[in-house]
Amino acid sequence: MKNLDVICPGCRENFHATTSAYNPYQPARGDMVRLRDPWRKWGWCSFSDGYDGRPPKIAETPNTLWAMMDCPGCGAPMALNGRLIVRNPDGSAFVPPPEDFYNPKPAEIVIPVYSDDDLDAEWNARINSKGIGFAESKDDKIFRLRGEGLSYAKIGRQVGLSGEMVRQIVKKAENEK
Ligand SMILES: [Zn+2]
Repeated sequence: MKNLDVICPGCRENFHATTSAYNPYQPARGDMVRLRDPWRKWGWCSFSDGYDGRPPKIAETPNTLWAMMDCPGCGAPMALNGRLIVRNPDGSAFVPPPEDFYNPKPAEIVIPVYSDDDLDAEWNARINSKGIGFAESKDDKIFRLRGEGLSYAKIGRQVGLSGEMVRQIVKKAENEK
């Protein structure tokens, strides 16, 4: 949760804002805060020069542990026992939301479940609709019509092939049996 005021327990100053990495349920780390202006643009270190001496881009990282986070103004430890003192921007006390807020559970994957009636309806819709799902292949149609006794030429007219082509397809299929 970002843009909250971080208050130094020593001098009560507010040199830092929280970043989106701030999680009150975890020990404080350097990446949870950001040194505010004007101190940032003045080139101050994020944390006490005496202990740290590193510029914000190096100090404000997960590698900076709470014990290394001293106030850049007075040098007092900012995170006693790993806890930062945090205030809302309007000065009111920050009340952390429940821990789940910081560790959202992965969204559940919803697998649709169909009833037998649903499946029957889907099946019937396919059978009753023309050519969807059960379209007869050209070869199947040729063999069906051949089985019904049609000539190669008549079959050819129905499937858009020459009679000779139909004959060759039928012969080839017979040879492969
Ligand atoms: Zn201080």
